[in-house]
Amino acid sequence: MSRRYASTVALLRARQPELPVYCIYPHVYHDAGRHFVENFPGRVLYAVKANNHPFVISALHAAGVNDFDCASLQEITLVKSLCPDARCYFMNPVRIAGDARQAQREFGTRHFMIDHASGLAPLVDEIDAQRSVIFARMAVSHHSAMVDLSTKFGAPPADMPGILANIRDAGAEPALAFNVGTGVTEPGAYTYAIGLAREVLEKTPFPVRLLDIGGGFPRRYPGFIVPPLDEFFAAIRGIRHELPLGASSEIMAEPGRALSAPGMSTIARVLLRKESRLYLNDGMYGAFWELRFKGHVRYPARAYRGHEPLVGKPHSFRLFGPTCDSSDELPGSVELPAGIDVGDYIEFGSMGAYSLSGRTSFNGFYSDDVVRIETESSLPPS
Ligand SMILES: *Cc1c(COP(=O)(O)O)cnc(C)c1O
Repeated sequence: MSRRYASTVALLRARQPELPVYCIYPHVYHDAGRHFVENFPGRVLYAVKANNHPFVISALHAAGVNDFDCASLQEITLVKSLCPDARCYFMNPVRIAGDARQAQREFGTRHFMIDHASGLAPLVDEIDAQRSVIFARMAVSHHSAMVDLSTKFGAPPADMPGILANIRDAGAEPALAFNVGTGVTEPGAYTYAIGLAREVLEKTPFPVRLLDIGGGFPRRYPGFIVPPLDEFFAAIRGIRHELPLGASSEIMAEPGRALSAPGMSTIARVLLRKESRLYLNDGMYGAFWELRFKGHVRYPARAYRGHEPLVGKPHSFRLFGPTCDSSDELPGSVELPAGIDVGDYIEFGSMGAYSLSGRTSFNGFYSDDVVRIETESSLPPS
């Protein structure tokens, strides 16, 4: 079965898939990667957890993303197998014992993360501190984040100078990190957190060279309208020079969603229609799992019958996944042509972030049919 098509129409003409198909548009990833790398005022690490499919990693790498934020040895191994020249950062304060050692030995990993003084000794035990950079992660929360990560990760700002000093005493280069959350809707969240970082750096009696401002850069979804990335970059650029960072300093970002969301769609098939309720072959236990969290509630959609776009008077539908769990319903409702019926397809756009990476095979529904859509004029619904 081919994994490359000129367009979704060509895909549907060639085969009428029974299971969900995940369409990667490499040219869309290329544009997203280039735009971020060229406009963010610092080093760009792709947060692999958002979408670890090889097509996505390779497309972003080809666009100039050469640094990868990894949370496990498995993620590092995957990235290095696809892009041997990439630089992988092991940025999870929670690790399997021995994995930091192996990452450094096998892949030359030099960047690690702790978020509590207790994390330092076990890490330094596994790595050569003299050739390593250890980030200390500060807890930050801001009301404009879709998901707040500060209850699980990070140390209070007041603890940071002490942790940075411990890292320095252990022989490694100390660096500072924070992560505001995911789906951050206001550039002000970054300027607020950078302000906190500045206070920490002012209280730290030695120079720090690297500040990692994390991910959280948002993607616009229907009903979830956010400022363009350029407004986030401008806000960060505006405050960056106020940071008392050491010589040859750099700031870094770890975008996951902003790089991975744009270039992937899901083509799902309608299995059953009951008036205004449509039952699909994919749902909350599949690629739509992220919708169970507070945040955006849906993806842009368009319909097909056979291999032709389906048009018609719009009607509001509720959408359900195929499993036997009654909570397997997509939140909200979606406008689709009123005549849509069993056997028709719906393509959902902006689905690259937190979709493939968390799908399950609950109840026996699972697809790993990932294809590339390669004509530049073909675009996912947006
Ligand atoms: C999840 C995560 C990211 C990526 O977050 P996005 O919201 O997808 O940009 C970056 N850094 C850390 C530490 C994370 O946990």
